[in-house]
Amino acid sequence: MPENKKVKVAFFDFASCEGCQLQVLNLENEFLNLLEHIEIVNFREAISEKSDDYLIAFVEGSITKPSDIPRIKKIRENAKILVALGACATHGCVNSMKNMFKINDVKKATYGDDDKLFDSEEAKPFETFEQAMPLDAVVKVDYYIRGCPINNKEFLMVVKALLKGKMPEITDSAVCLECQAKGNICLYDKGEICLGLISRGGCDAWCPSNGFVCEGCRGFIDKPNIERMKEIIIEKGLSLEYAEKRLQLFNSWELTKNKITLIDDKEKK
Ligand code: SF4
Ligand code: SF4
Ligand code: SF4
Repeated sequence: MPENKKVKVAFFDFASCEGCQLQVLNLENEFLNLLEHIEIVNFREAISEKSDDYLIAFVEGSITKPSDIPRIKKIRENAKILVALGACATHGCVNSMKNMFKINDVKKATYGDDDKLFDSEEAKPFETFEQAMPLDAVVKVDYYIRGCPINNKEFLMVVKALLKGKMPEITDSAVCLECQAKGNICLYDKGEICLGLISRGGCDAWCPSNGFVCEGCRGFIDKPNIERMKEIIIEKGLSLEYAEKRLQLFNSWELTKNKITLIDDKEKK
């Protein structure tokens, strides 16, 4: 990183609710302190200026339509470091739920049976891909800040590491490890289905520590043991169908890409 010179940083968004950018702004004074070291040159939620001159790009959102491709490629070209910001960008998140269905069924469910609404010339600018994709399906991503929404302290940690020229630490252990280290009673023992078994930690087991099941908002660990999770769900007499639906909430991109399912065809009703 350049010494004694502010590092130019840009924020961009694709298909998203913009909640992860909001989390950055929610840092308030800590964000203002950061401005002693960085210069923000693009940030639609905060400033109206725009520039193509930046070193680090934080990109929120999924790739969902043809016009997204040249735009994300241009950002990649301009940035030395590209960071995927939040679950929509890191692994598709709720945008990818549509990947589980045929696109025409999704359109019909959204717009009704009026084909003109999605097959006409006027509708072309709103054309979408069949699959919502994370950024790394299209361009190289250097770092990932996970979660829906991100933890803004984690964002700070990543920025500080990058400014020092260090690699931010990224965990690949499951939420269970952090949950058990905190001495929580496992929610499976209370008859609930928790996805912490196969979900990437780094959130300090935030949900199970507060009595809620993990929904896998930080994506799966690199080698999720789906078979073991399936065995546990069966042993506890819980519903595989319900667990499968829960997996689809944040992780449909991963499920379709790697053909992951809890229910074999022969088990489907
Ligand atoms: S990850 Fe969640 S909070 Fe962040 S932009 Fe996507 S939907 Fe919104
Ligand atoms: S509650 Fe969830 S995260 Fe915690 S130990 Fe049980 S399965 Fe793992
Ligand atoms: S416990 Fe699961 S759902 Fe909750 S924040 Fe962590 S990864 Fe996300």
